Amino acid sequence: MTNLNYKKEVTVVGGGLAGLAAIKVLLKTGWSVHLVAMDSYFTFLPLLHELAAGSLPIASLRFDYHSFLQANNFKLTVAQVQQIDLAQHCLITNQEKIDFDYLLIATGSHTAQDKIVGSRQALTLNTWQQAEMLAERLDALSKQGSVINIIGASFTGLELSLEIAEQLKRKKQKATINLLHSHVRLVPWLPEIGHQIIIQALERQGINLYSPERVVAIGPQYILTKTGHYRGDLNILTTGITPNTAILDPALVNDQGEVLVNNYLQVRGQVRVWAAGDIISLGERAIPKLAQTAIQQGRIVADNIIKQQSGRPLQPYQPRIKGLFIALDKMRAVGHINHRLIHGHWVWFVWRTVYFFNIPGWKNHWRLAKIWTRRFLGRH
Ligand SMILES: Cc1cc2nc3c(=O)[nH]c(=O)nc-3n(C[C@H](O)[C@H](O)[C@H](O)COP(=O)(O)OP(=O)(O)OC[C@H]3O[C@@H](n4cnc5c(N)ncnc54)[C@H](O)[C@@H]3O)c2cc1C
Repeated sequence: MTNLNYKKEVTVVGGGLAGLAAIKVLLKTGWSVHLVAMDSYFTFLPLLHELAAGSLPIASLRFDYHSFLQANNFKLTVAQVQQIDLAQHCLITNQEKIDFDYLLIATGSHTAQDKIVGSRQALTLNTWQQAEMLAERLDALSKQGSVINIIGASFTGLELSLEIAEQLKRKKQKATINLLHSHVRLVPWLPEIGHQIIIQALERQGINLYSPERVVAIGPQYILTKTGHYRGDLNILTTGITPNTAILDPALVNDQGEVLVNNYLQVRGQVRVWAAGDIISLGERAIPKLAQTAIQQGRIVADNIIKQQSGRPLQPYQPRIKGLFIALDKMRAVGHINHRLIHGHWVWFVWRTVYFFNIPGWKNHWRLAKIWTRRFLGRH
């Protein structure tokens, strides 16, 4: 059955990796897109730790939507969606009410702050504003003897601690960096040898790793764990994420706050409402919350909306993890491709190249190439 009664326009809430991947496909095929986003910039989150550490300028990872989406069939409204009214087919925002026919919800996630007492006193890293604040706070630390506690040694915690350590060395600023993790194993998806490579990088940069060490409370200048007390001039929380789904009817989300979707990524019980990225749950099947899965899902949603409109069968979503990398120090990275462990400088370059091609807009590519080359030459 076709849906010719509906305009070929999709309203997208959230212009992160999933939303943007869908927008690109839709615009290319002549659909109109109305993006409702919290600010006028797209932020490439996987590089946020480098902005936070002060080693990359903001122009490397924050791009004005209008710098790469200039089509006449693209409209941007900068507003915060406060509620999605599925019965009335409209969004209630802090600016205006917006009606929709087709809707993609791609609002991403933020650091979970409900698991540790006093979490809100710690800094978190989800937006460019938070990264800039972190960079300012690092800059303001005294030159000698400051203590930085990073709570959670997953992707973000590891990459951030190594980047901060390297940057402080470059600036000849001395600080103690403690990295605290609740489990013995830092990155469960890497084999033991990969784990050892990470430990060596942390040792090389003089980072104190405490694992397993469960943080139970965070104060203004300290943290408490099950076994002790750590002084902290800067406490940074990077322990897991919570989906941004408070704008939805609670009946549509599970206990973890994820939106339940079917195999085609339609919100359960809805025909023209879709969801993608960090916010979704497929039920039994766990989906890694990653840049690559968000991009794949955004594309599938766009394809399925186009198919639905013309009455063709929809395509089910199958998560595909092509490879995973963690950036280490000294321009090295460790990870796997098709379950084969890889590490070293070349992995870092491959990892950067993949990111490079996920940055939107050719003009931005040139700008980025210049910034990264300058930075690379500066380090050698
Ligand atoms: C610091 C950091 C490092 C990461 N590193 C890696 C990595 O190395 N590799 C990897 O694969 N993944 C990494 N990730 C995860 C990856 O970035 C996410 O999985 C991916 O961005 C999810 O895409 P998304 O579109 O669902 O959400 P996002 O990219 O977060 O986009 C969501 C968008 O929705 C907007 N929004 C939210 N609420 C509203 C609202 N109410 N109204 C309007 N707009 C709203 C937000 O402002 C945001 O622009 C990292 C994430 C972070 C935070």
